[in-house]
Amino acid sequence: MIDYERFFSEESNLYRVSDIRKLLEVAKQKELISLGGGLPDFRIIDLNEVLDAVTTVIMNKGNIALQYSATNGEPSFIDALTEYLEKDVGLEVKENESIIVTTGSQQAIDITARLFLNPNDVLLLEKPTYVASLNAFFPRRPRFEGLEITSDDGISIDELESKLEKLKKEGIKPKVLYIIPSYQNPTGAILPEKSRRKIVELAHEYDFLVVEDDPYSQLTYEGEKPKPIKAFDKEGRVIYISTLSKVVSPGLRIGFVLADRAVINRYSLIKQALDLHSSTLTQLIAEELLRRGFHRKYLSKIIPIYRSRRDAMLRSLEEELGDNAVWTRPRGGMFVFVWLKNNIDTKKLLEKAIDSGVLYVPGSGFYYDGSGRNTMRLNFSYPSEQDIRKGIKILGELVKSEAERNG
Ligand SMILES: *Cc1c(COP(=O)(O)O)cnc(C)c1O
Repeated sequence: MIDYERFFSEESNLYRVSDIRKLLEVAKQKELISLGGGLPDFRIIDLNEVLDAVTTVIMNKGNIALQYSATNGEPSFIDALTEYLEKDVGLEVKENESIIVTTGSQQAIDITARLFLNPNDVLLLEKPTYVASLNAFFPRRPRFEGLEITSDDGISIDELESKLEKLKKEGIKPKVLYIIPSYQNPTGAILPEKSRRKIVELAHEYDFLVVEDDPYSQLTYEGEKPKPIKAFDKEGRVIYISTLSKVVSPGLRIGFVLADRAVINRYSLIKQALDLHSSTLTQLIAEELLRRGFHRKYLSKIIPIYRSRRDAMLRSLEEELGDNAVWTRPRGGMFVFVWLKNNIDTKKLLEKAIDSGVLYVPGSGFYYDGSGRNTMRLNFSYPSEQDIRKGIKILGELVKSEAERNG
């Protein structure tokens, strides 16, 4: 037996094992009600329509689709993305800007980390934040400066300002603010427009870049679709990252970055070393689906379903956990975030939950410092309303008996 440890690089030790991955493995082996996943629900789509798009691509553009292509993406697909950004997202691609297609937005986040972060560079970020982004940040060893999310409105701009002032007094300039402003993962919080404008101003004033991760703005269940922070950016401070994962299909692995051309050129250099380019085949399939308005049809079907599931979850939480927890009330996205009272440790509770037949994600993995031990993330986009009700009922009983024990 070889001890491989001595061969592994120091950097490879900085990647953390994800709780969610381990959980999903457990979940697969058991018949559980899963409120733990992060899956969009594509079970309602018309597979024949997708098949027709795939056939069209292969029959009409097979030689392009199966060939190597440009690192930044297939030009005809970038045109379709540009139209999607303008018509659906409300973002124009300006003269000095361009787009690079990435292999999921995960690759865009990883490249972002490689592109901007030296060890000890200050990275401002939400606390809690998306665990897969943390995994891209850890190996770069930045200095994390967290902005606590405690309400449905996301981070506090006052807290951001005082943090910036404090850092300035220490003579430290933050480099990047990484933020998921719309229906954040894991909290579901949405940053008000006023705060979005203010962030752009602060970025100018304190000279940092904003990396906006926006997978969810199209999944709006109440009120108007939010305008990305990027929409208020005149100076080129904002790097906009998004994905087709929640609006067309995550299996295509199509993400993209919109930013100033000088920035995109650097993304391109790094991407070339990583995978030359993203799949030409799935780019062309995505293009065909976008041109047919597949995403609009899908969204108009799935949004009312997600909305009802969210409502079922919020109602059940009120009934089953009302005295023992507080939680977010998201107006879009896929998640509700819960803070338990009475010092209940959600990692410890999880074993009991699995024994009782329900799965959730303990929240501490979303905190770069491992805090948030009394928190959990609940997913409402994938389980049925019936399972949501059953799952929350089981959780409510567990939490109640745990609270009595701790009480
Ligand atoms: C789902 C999600 C993504 C999407 O990742 P892909 O690699 O594009 O599938 C990105 N950021 C956040 C915060 C997410 O929740």
